[in-house]
Amino acid sequence: MNLILFIATLLIFFAVNPASAQSYELPVEHEHTFSDCRGTLVITPERIEYKTAHKEDARTWRYADLRQIKIQSPNSIELVSYEDQKRMMNRDRVFKFKVLEGEITSEISALLVERATRPVVTSMAPATEDAPAFKALVKHLHRFGGCIGTLKVYPDRVVYESEETPSDSRYWRYGDIQNFSQSERYRFEIVTFEDKFGGPKAYNFQLREALPAYAYDYVWTGVYPSKFRREERLAWPGDGEGISADRKARNQ
Ligand SMILES: [Zn+2]
Ligand SMILES: [Zn+2]
Repeated sequence: MNLILFIATLLIFFAVNPASAQSYELPVEHEHTFSDCRGTLVITPERIEYKTAHKEDARTWRYADLRQIKIQSPNSIELVSYEDQKRMMNRDRVFKFKVLEGEITSEISALLVERATRPVVTSMAPATEDAPAFKALVKHLHRFGGCIGTLKVYPDRVVYESEETPSDSRYWRYGDIQNFSQSERYRFEIVTFEDKFGGPKAYNFQLREALPAYAYDYVWTGVYPSKFRREERLAWPGDGEGISADRKARNQ
């Protein structure tokens, strides 16, 4: 009996240890409609766990269990699970946490962006030193009014930074952008995968200074790489099986 216990302990030790190499614990408050509960949010490369004495709220999510991770600020994170919430007309259950000690650092943010199976909504851009390819002063249009900031276009991402309303700042990898358009010269619209009342959320920017005309093509290439590559591939007839397969399909 003792031997079994020993082996079990050993197995648990080895199973748990590699993950603890990159594991973050944050004391948090889980926000409810009425009284809140407190506990610890444990973030590892495999899962996010909410440990709390308030048993019915304790959860462990693998990343695939989360529909949306939203980092609103260094002190606020929101997790949307696929769990139904009957009383809320089957809206997916949202867990909103306030960080009580420490903060969601750029390392934690980077881990979440890397591990999440769906785009992470984050107001925290990872600290990098590369310069944007383009940038412009903009106004982020709200339903009423708006906030002022800077739109920056990088080779791998688009960033909106607002000192005026930091919680509206966003960082999108091109894969996080569903659609974008420039309906007028001084407009720039990004449709994201961020959920807002069940629909994707759009960010409309009014440019306060012009972007060069080719900035649009630059972003387009980033947002629609498959369209771009397909055209590029067709332009190179010698390029392998993909094309002959395409042709075969067309000829049939
Ligand atoms: Zn709770
Ligand atoms: Zn705004």
